[in-house]
Formats: sequence, C-alpha cells, structure tokens
Amino acid sequence: MTTVRGQLFIGGEWTDSAGGTIEVLGAATGEVIGRVPAGTPADVDAAVAAARAAFPSWRATPMGERLELLRQVELALSARADELASLISAEVGTPLRVSRMLQVEGPRRAIENYRRLLPELPLEEKIGPSVVIREPLGVVACITAWNYPLQQVVGKAAGALAAGCTVVVKPSEVAPLSAFILADLIEEAGFPPGVLNLVSGDRRSGETLVAHPGVDMVHFTGSTTAGRHIGASAAQTVKRTSLELGGKSPNVILDDADLDLAVKVGVANCFTNSGQTCTAWSRMLVHRSQLAQVEALVAQRVARYRLGDPLDPDTNFGPLVSAEQQKSVRAHIRRAMADGARLVCGGPEQPPETPSGYFVAPTVFSDVRVDMRLAQEEVFGPVLALMPYDTEEEAIEIANSTIYGLAGGVWSRDTTRAERVARRIRSGQIDINGSFFNPLAPFGGHKQSGIGRELGVHGLLEFYELTSLQYA
Ligand code: NAD
Repeated sequence: MTTVRGQLFIGGEWTDSAGGTIEVLGAATGEVIGRVPAGTPADVDAAVAAARAAFPSWRATPMGERLELLRQVELALSARADELASLISAEVGTPLRVSRMLQVEGPRRAIENYRRLLPELPLEEKIGPSVVIREPLGVVACITAWNYPLQQVVGKAAGALAAGCTVVVKPSEVAPLSAFILADLIEEAGFPPGVLNLVSGDRRSGETLVAHPGVDMVHFTGSTTAGRHIGASAAQTVKRTSLELGGKSPNVILDDADLDLAVKVGVANCFTNSGQTCTAWSRMLVHRSQLAQVEALVAQRVARYRLGDPLDPDTNFGPLVSAEQQKSVRAHIRRAMADGARLVCGGPEQPPETPSGYFVAPTVFSDVRVDMRLAQEEVFGPVLALMPYDTEEEAIEIANSTIYGLAGGVWSRDTTRAERVARRIRSGQIDINGSFFNPLAPFGGHKQSGIGRELGVHGLLEFYELTSLQYA
C-alpha cells in the first residue's frame, strides 16, 4: 500500500506546494511506499508566518487548555498505535515486534510526561529584588532524523506546544509519513490554526528554516556534520539552538562485572534498530584478560538474531533504512578491516538469508584500538567494536577518547566502583549495571554530541526565555 500525502499543513489548512514530490522507499523492499511534497522556500515562509501569527494567542492560552489539547493527541496516538508502528516499520525497518514500544509508546509517554511536569515548572522565581519570569520563546523549528521519526518530532513539538511556543516541523525526507499522521491528530484535536505547521522537504527546507529571521529557536536532531552547519547558520540571527547529534558510546565492562549480563544487555543495546540509534553502545570496552571469553559470549548473542522482513513477527533484526545507509555502513566495515581490526562475525556482504533489502549482518570486530577509524567514527549501523584495556584508568581514557559524549554504560559487581568510573565519563546518559531508558531524565550530549537537553523538566525549560523584572 502506498501512502500519498499531497499537501502540507500550514496555518491549519492542508495546502498545495509548488515543489516536487519526495518518494519514500520501504526499507525491506526498496519499493515506493509513500509520497510527500518537497516543500519550497515559499512554503517555509508561509509556515513561519502562520506560526508567528498564532504565537501571541497560543502563549496567552491557559496552560490547562494547551495540555488538554495535547492529551487528545496522546489518546489518539494510543488508538492508532498499531497503524503507526506498521508504517514506521515499513519506512525505517524496525522489527514490528518492538516497533509499537520503541516507535509509538515512547512519543505517547513523552506527551504524558510533559503534561504532568509542566504545571510543576518554576516559571517565576524571586531572586533578590527581581522577579525572574520564564516566557515561551516563540517560533520553534523542529528538524528531525529518520531513525525514531515520531519520537523526535513529538519530543520537540509537544514540549514546545506545551510551553506555549508555536512550531514548524520539518521531518526527515527519509521517513516523513508519521509526521503527517501527527498533523492529522493536531487538526482533529482542534488546535488553533498555525500552532503546528508541517513542511516536508530535504535539507534545503531545513536550511531555509534555520536561516529564517522569523524563527526564534532551532531544535534539531541529526548528524554532527549537519549540526555544525546549523549552529553556524543559526548564529547569523543569534537563534537559540538545541542540537541532538551523533554518538560513539562506550560500554565499559569492568573486570568484576557479571559478564553474561553485561554482554547480553550491551549487544542488545548496540544492535537495537539495526544499530541505527544515536545512543547505541557501539564500543564495548573489555579487560584484556577477558577478551576471548567476551568475544565468545558476544558471538553467541549475535547468532540469535533472525534477519528478515521487519513486518514478520518472527524477525528481530531488520534492514537498514536505505541503500545509501547500507553503502555507508559497508564502507565503514571495509575501512575497519583495512585498519587491522579483527572480524569476529558479520561483514560487508549481503547476508545470504536476506538476498534483497538493505540488510547488513550484525558485525563484530575485536582488538579495536583508539587510533582506528572504527573507534572514532559513528557508523550508525550494526557494527560493534570490542576494545581491550589493561587498567581502569585506561578504560576511562578510551571511553573519553572520541569527539562524542552521548550515552554509555558501566558494569561492575561493586556499584561504588561502577559509579566512580561513570562519574568520570563525559556523556549525557550513563547506565550503571544496565537500566531502562528514563524519559524523565534529561536527554542530550556532551562535546560534539550536542547542545541542550530534550525530555523531562530540563527539556521543557529549553523552550523558555528569561526576563528579570526589577523592583526598586
Ligand atoms: P542528517 O543530519 O542527515 O539529517 C537530519 C535532518 O536534518 C533531516 O531532516 C535533514 O533533511 C536535515 N538537514 C540535513 N542537513 C541540514 C542542514 N545543513 N540544515 C538544516 N537541516 C538539515 O541526519 P540523519 O541521517 O537523518 O540521521 C542520522 C544522524 O542523526 C546520526 O548521526 C545520529 O546519531 C543522529 N541522531 C541523533 C539523535 C540524538 O538525539 N542525539 C537521535 C537520532 C539520530
């Protein structure tokens, strides 16, 4: 079935675009599964103008009314969860058996959390003779990646809307379809016109939005390369930016860890969504004396993956999102081989059990050194690097040796030791002896993994500007 969405959502109306069409390809088949408009600069102008016009009354709308409208969207996401999960599985390749939880329940919970947290936010505080007030920032451009498409759009847009900002959403051109359903839900819930606007398009639409003088904040999820350009462009009009960028996260297994558990959780983390996860623990740091044992455990876990059609309930390892992504991941694997990393399993060839589709087998390298490209570059695919260390100090040094600092894990039977190591790793989120993703905790990166935080209280506070009222 092909999903055709021929119009953009601007100022509360479904609107024609003079631009061309973007074809959305299925990850498992490469066939066209959807078509959306390629927004033009004029479409971006219209969307920003609509968001600007809607801002004064939206910010003045009582918080309870804003949150009630968001609650309607949250309920509708639950009601349409199966449809959304299937759509995103077809687009991105996420196995359907986890898609509902990973791709739909996460966004629903993000809205629920924003609704619960917002009334508790300290929007006014007294500091000496001043009253410091937080005011909604204005028009927020939400520009997102394709790997968790609905989560990223909702994580930004719902927080901004709750806070009283208006938004223009520019979803990834690779996986834009769920953003159109979100716009349907916004319309059905009865949000005022212009509060949320949707312009699909490629990077050029993103660039137009970032440079636009009518936009107050750019909230971006994507690659560090694009994030650098966006930071530079947004600086020309001194816009607020929140950048959620790439990662090369370390999973530090100390020598007194429960190895079975650390490997089980570590492998699952690295290969979720076929490794196309910004927080993937793509480096496993292992005490040299335990390297052979860990290699065997990792290979056993990897052998359990069943590659196949993401819509088949038996599949637990789907294809990559696109031909371009498959080509890029294969090139990373070949470079790792050329640099002398030792292949434990997988490789750059098309896996025999999936002769078509953008598949790359789960691939593991060992004896990976800090100076190899695999230890430094984000692959954004199913490739795990086992990196041996000799001392705890060296493990910390290796963990901190990349330009990234998004996530990570530390494992030890001695929790005090694990925490001591975790506190020295420069990353936004570090799990100690495994954990569940906590959507209330701030999410974002140190170093070149980003600027700003998403989700929870810290994420909401990004959408405000401070004013100090001074009294004599
Ligand atoms: P990308 O940077 O190519 O594109 C992301 C979005 O930005 C798309 O909508 C694209 O059209 C737009 N874009 C690209 N260049 C732009 C520019 N110069 N100006 C304005 N907009 C621009 O990234 P991708 O391939 O879609 O996603 C993969 C990357 O995203 C990985 O590096 C991954 O780590 C990162 N990511 C980060 C997080 C996080 O929360 N930190 C989450 C998911 C993905």
